Amino acid sequence: MFPRPRIAIALVVILAAISAPILASVYLAWHQSLSSQKAQGLTYSHDVLRRVDETAQQFATAKREMDHAHLAPCSPQDLAMLRQIALGSSYLQAVARASRNSVLCDSQGVTTPASLGPPSLISAHHVAEYFNIKLSPRQWRPLDVFVAGQTAAVVDPSLAIDVATEGPDIELTVFVPSAPDRTRIASLGGNFRANWFQTIPPGSENTVLENGYIVTQARSAKWDLAVVSAIPEHYVYLHVFHFALIFTPIGVLCGILLAWAVNYIAQHRSSFPTTVRRAVRNREFFVEYQPIVELQSRRIVGAEALVRWKTPLATIPPDHFIPLAEERGLMHLITGQVLAMVASDLPRILALDPSFEVAINMSSSDLKSGQTIERLDHLLAATGAQPRNIGIEATERAYLHDRETAQLIGVLRSKGFRVAIDDFGTGYSSLACLQSLSLDTLKIDKAFVDTIDTDGATSQVVHHIIEMARSLQLELVAEGVETEAQAQFLALRGVRYAQGWLFGKPRPIAGLLNEIERRSNIDAPVSVLA
Ligand code: C2E
Ligand code: CA
Ligand code: CA
Repeated sequence: MFPRPRIAIALVVILAAISAPILASVYLAWHQSLSSQKAQGLTYSHDVLRRVDETAQQFATAKREMDHAHLAPCSPQDLAMLRQIALGSSYLQAVARASRNSVLCDSQGVTTPASLGPPSLISAHHVAEYFNIKLSPRQWRPLDVFVAGQTAAVVDPSLAIDVATEGPDIELTVFVPSAPDRTRIASLGGNFRANWFQTIPPGSENTVLENGYIVTQARSAKWDLAVVSAIPEHYVYLHVFHFALIFTPIGVLCGILLAWAVNYIAQHRSSFPTTVRRAVRNREFFVEYQPIVELQSRRIVGAEALVRWKTPLATIPPDHFIPLAEERGLMHLITGQVLAMVASDLPRILALDPSFEVAINMSSSDLKSGQTIERLDHLLAATGAQPRNIGIEATERAYLHDRETAQLIGVLRSKGFRVAIDDFGTGYSSLACLQSLSLDTLKIDKAFVDTIDTDGATSQVVHHIIEMARSLQLELVAEGVETEAQAQFLALRGVRYAQGWLFGKPRPIAGLLNEIERRSNIDAPVSVLA
């Protein structure tokens, strides 16, 4: 039994990916072998047809020349001419004079008439055909005699089918298409089936698979003759092996490549929840800490834990996966990882500064779940930290005015955790909502910090946020401070804390510990406000 149906499905798909090209290559080998046997059948039929065509052509020429000479049949001149024509006709055993079912004399010197008996058939071209004839005792095997007018040709039918075939069980035959019984003139083999002799148009050819044979018929364009070759199917299987030797390794290679591609695509296209779960299992999420400083003293008082995702291909910033993870209800997994990492880093931080605060971002779902309290209690228990060492950043997107969220925030604060509203001014919260919530800190979003010292329409907003926070007795942290001018502006207006590239970018725990140590060893810079 497989541990999970998904693994079983994956194995089946990979197995299919490997076996499909191999099966395809075996089929291709069979197909190729069949094609080559069909071609071979055509070659046999054409070879024989060329010989019978040539025989018929030589007989026609002999008749025309004899008719044209107007010699007295069997006269010395006539016999000389018969001999001369026979010499030039390679497919004719002899050329003869004939009259009323008899041969009168021939090119081989026979001058006594020999009876042929009744013709075996009269062809469409009015040629009387006599088969299995022995004209003289010297003739050691029966021959065929064709008579047209007064001219006859003696033909050895075995000459036409005397072609080299691959095996003795390959059948070859020459037949007369116009004859109702499809009279066979010459044959090799004897397993002929009646339906192999269905006539096809003159000059055409046809190949069919019939009862275990590849049957090819080729019909003469000019003469009343056709040839059938029949190759037993086992020759196809015999040759499959040769083609399989070529195609199967290619199929195996393609199968392996395909299986690899299927596996690769499956790994990379698995659903987002699956990918996140796997990333959690593989510990692909990690945190960086961005220092939070007290603006007046520039002392590091805390840091924000910011999650990142290190995939085998690249490190993905949180903006690219947090919104989707929130939407798909996966944030509890990611927050769990963040808390676990903070838990392992916190003791070392607190060893340097026991009053240090690590701010952790919480999503809407975290702020509704009772599990969050348990997790934070566990964090305290595991690290020996105090609640004041942990800050909770609740983004404004989290619908903070929601009853469950407001309650949970209340519990957190009652336990001594500091709760900040993040990204204030970028979402939907109203001032009224801010008043109804009990919070500790307001984080001024980078978007507003950026407007400091600009003439933009929103440049005044930062003043109002500061005033509002003061009236609600909220602590202020300015985010995204990049310039000294911004820092001084904020400090002048009583903003106590700030975070931004001016003071430090997010960095791994080792970098944060170094920075805490370094800053604690130097005096605070002379403040412009002093
Ligand atoms: P945020 O909570 O507003 O975090 C501040 C973001 O501003 C961080 O981006 C930080 O790197 C960036 N930042 C800070 N100072 C500067 C600066 O001076 N200049 C500029 N250009 N950028 C600055 P980051 O790390 O990409 O995080 C983006 C957002 O992803 C965060 O915004 C937060 O909403 C979310 N996020 C990050 N970590 C977590 C997490 O663990 N849980 C949840 N729920 N959200 C997280
Ligand atoms: Ca934040
Ligand atoms: Ca923010």
